[in-house]
Amino acid sequence: MPQITEPSLAYAQQKDREDKLQGFRSRFVFPKREGGEMIYFCGNSLGLQPVSAEESIRQELIDWRELAIEGYWKARNPWMTYPQTLRGPLARIAGCLEEEVTVMNALTVNLHLLLLTFYRPTPQRYKIIMEAGAFPSDQYAMETQVKWHGFDPKDAVIEVAPRKGESLIREEDLMAAIEREKGSLALVLFGGLNYYTGQVFDMATITAATHRAGAVAGFDLAHAVGNVPLALHDWGVDFAVWCSYKYLNGGPGAAGGAFIHQRHVQDKTLVRLGGWWGNDSTSRFQMDHQSLSSGQATGGGLGGFIPKPTAEGWSMSTAQVFNMACLRASLAIFEEAGIERLVAKSRELTGYLASLLESLEDGAFRVITPAEPESRGAQLSLHFGAAGRGKIIQQQLMDEGVVTDYREPGVVRVAPAPLYNSFEDVYRFCHILRQLL
Ligand SMILES: *Cc1c(COP(=O)(O)O)cnc(C)c1O
Repeated sequence: MPQITEPSLAYAQQKDREDKLQGFRSRFVFPKREGGEMIYFCGNSLGLQPVSAEESIRQELIDWRELAIEGYWKARNPWMTYPQTLRGPLARIAGCLEEEVTVMNALTVNLHLLLLTFYRPTPQRYKIIMEAGAFPSDQYAMETQVKWHGFDPKDAVIEVAPRKGESLIREEDLMAAIEREKGSLALVLFGGLNYYTGQVFDMATITAATHRAGAVAGFDLAHAVGNVPLALHDWGVDFAVWCSYKYLNGGPGAAGGAFIHQRHVQDKTLVRLGGWWGNDSTSRFQMDHQSLSSGQATGGGLGGFIPKPTAEGWSMSTAQVFNMACLRASLAIFEEAGIERLVAKSRELTGYLASLLESLEDGAFRVITPAEPESRGAQLSLHFGAAGRGKIIQQQLMDEGVVTDYREPGVVRVAPAPLYNSFEDVYRFCHILRQLL
């Protein structure tokens, strides 16, 4: 369908009436200001609360109160297998098998944990390629990982940057870096979607090139999961991590997600740091007290860590049920809406936003996010050239009841989430922005 960009409220409202996902809007709670609902375009930072989240938490409070320890087995959603109930919906969102995905800890923790397995540098092969301007936590993680292994970040971490005067990273430059470093490359760690520019990277192509260079391909999908189409299994990605509080609406501090490819989860020889939750469930409770040093170790006692043959084989501790309950509520909504339908709506909604912004661009700002629908997700990044202007505009939008966010240098990020944002939201946002400019 061609993008019709008639800048009228009636057109936006007509689009909403035709939208088959429009009903999902009422399943979320919008923040209010002076009694009115705000326009919320910040689902890329913190997704809105599903109405059903409260019930989901309440259920666990009730089961804890009524069942205490027995809740592990007898709760409505037994805590023993709680993370496993999230695998199906997540597998459909991530494009992978259920055994390849789990929920545990948080993003940066999972990144470090998985690097214990997937970043095993040698004096010959120790370099990491990442995107320049990656999210700070990823930069700190890579810097401290290479230091922990005794390498110098200045030598071991190679950042691929946009060319001078450009905002986006060219795929050919990344490919050239992989080719150039192929003798010493251990890992390529990229975002699936850059948090600042909104650029989506071609994960299939990056993974294939990384593997040809003899290295491991890992992705940070914080801004990609629940936002853009993913096929992690078919792409052959080695591992990926994400947080659950952005497009997945799991709430602040929700337990994070991890993907580990089938060929790795079945490989019990892969080194990792283990804990009881990652041990094969049939032998987890055989806590016989044989000691490693006695040489008497058997399958169940010390010395007997047998990882589960799934992504859960990397988990360590008891399921964080209360940090998963809101995510569970949200994933049930994703199941109903379907990720394909959400992506289709997202492309229309963000396309509509892009076309309205085009008619607004007057030199005050420039949309730096790629124009091709398959190279971006819900987020458009508006770069304001004049010093301080972006921050002021973001604050003025807030005063007008529009929630966006600001990232240095100069970028206001605007992300209409297809689960709960409408064409009318987009229309109203552009109307207010026009007046501010
Ligand atoms: C949001 C985000 C994080 C956050 O990491 P936490 O460990 O969940 O605090 C990390 N990396 C990227 C790219 C992000 O966008």
